[in-house]
Amino acid sequence: MRDFEANGLSGAEETKLQYEYIEKAKKYVSQKEKELGRKLTCYVKTFGCQMNARDSEKLLGILNEIGYVETEDEHADFVIYNTCTVRENANNKVYGRLGYLSNYKKKNPHMMIALCGCMMQEPEVVEKIRKSYRFVNLIFGTHNIYKFAELLCRSMESDSMIVDIWKDTDKIVEDLPVQRKYSFKSGVNIMFGCNNFCSYCIVPYVRGRERSREPKDIIREIESLVADGVCEVMLLGQNVNSYGKNLEHPVTFAELLREVNKIEGLKRIRFMTSHPKDLSDDLILAMKECDKVCKHMHLPLQSGSSRLLKIMNRHYDKEQYLALVKKLREAIPDIALTTDIIVGFPGETEEDFNETLDVVKQVQYDSAFTFIYSKRTGTPAAAMKNQVDPDEVKRHFDILLKEVQEISAKKAKELEGRVMEVLAEEQNIQDASLITGRLSNNSVVHFPGTPDMIGKFYMVRLTECRGFYYLGEIVEDA
Ligand code: SF4
Repeated sequence: MRDFEANGLSGAEETKLQYEYIEKAKKYVSQKEKELGRKLTCYVKTFGCQMNARDSEKLLGILNEIGYVETEDEHADFVIYNTCTVRENANNKVYGRLGYLSNYKKKNPHMMIALCGCMMQEPEVVEKIRKSYRFVNLIFGTHNIYKFAELLCRSMESDSMIVDIWKDTDKIVEDLPVQRKYSFKSGVNIMFGCNNFCSYCIVPYVRGRERSREPKDIIREIESLVADGVCEVMLLGQNVNSYGKNLEHPVTFAELLREVNKIEGLKRIRFMTSHPKDLSDDLILAMKECDKVCKHMHLPLQSGSSRLLKIMNRHYDKEQYLALVKKLREAIPDIALTTDIIVGFPGETEEDFNETLDVVKQVQYDSAFTFIYSKRTGTPAAAMKNQVDPDEVKRHFDILLKEVQEISAKKAKELEGRVMEVLAEEQNIQDASLITGRLSNNSVVHFPGTPDMIGKFYMVRLTECRGFYYLGEIVEDA
């Protein structure tokens, strides 16, 4: 791993340089096409969060621009894994897939394999791949993804493995090609990195320090997305609530939301992830007053025990979290609240766990992502002695899951029979006669329809609640 390459180029100059590499790579690809007598294919596999999903759209945008055609599986001329390392098993999945790829590559020696994303920011991982997976052509990290075209050229010109991992970066490079997964909605990065260093989390070590994009660049991107048919955006950041702090002219997330809300043609604004310690009154007011902001907030709790929250370095306690929820509900009574909860954090006692259960019962979450603590090498928590007995963790996990699911189902039931606005998102995977869409509160609805409805809004009666999702019927166009 090395310090980032301060090549003295501005963001705009770097964009120009990368387009030159795209042109160069195009020539290599068309040469290979002539040799093989067919188009070259590519496959981008994304592991992990929505930030990674957005990065993969950028990787695919560059691959398409260069001339690769996307395929549905790993039997492709170019395969790239955009990895995650937030939990131990994420790493194991990648090693497993690489094993499969090595056999396929033996039969297709011209095939190229690349790895990027958070897992590649861990030096011991890169060493393992250098030693045990020598057939990998290219490895890069989270800070130099904008150099993908340049790195591809270097890899196409070399017979040995290209490894380029940066410790950090100062640059945000705009306007590179992107291939969106959905025509009508898009993730939009507003910031990168995290400064919070929660004691169990590997993200600050692999995504670096917080860097916010200029509001004008974000607005310009969203305006061009809307012009291209997008009606919903998801503003992305590890902690969007601390957006703008490192800008030359600081702008708060609340101010950014108000600006995005002014964009003509945009219908829905979603955002994630919010850290409770930075949830300001201003932001709650902006969420209330901005008509396009969806009625959903994901507000990770992690634990209900103030004692554990301190050891987790979360910078809020149980009472402060509950006070925030109270403020949110007073301002936006029909807001849906979801959260993340870790069970089995080192030293967690029965009493700590009961504090978590108490918060769940008080807040009544619409849904919750519950995780068993995963030791991440390099984090302070990984070095903590009092790791909890796995059977005890499992027992607690099952109790919590049952509680969360009962509350979710009860809350979902409350909307049964209501007519609500739904954005049609895709054809139902199990039943092609159904369309799957989402309410403003992020709940899923399946209703009879046809693919031409995708990307449009409809007023749908929620005829039946099926636990966490609804069946419905269209009442009228929204
Ligand atoms: S806020 Fe905490 S949990 Fe979230 S990415 Fe940052 S360090 Fe990790």
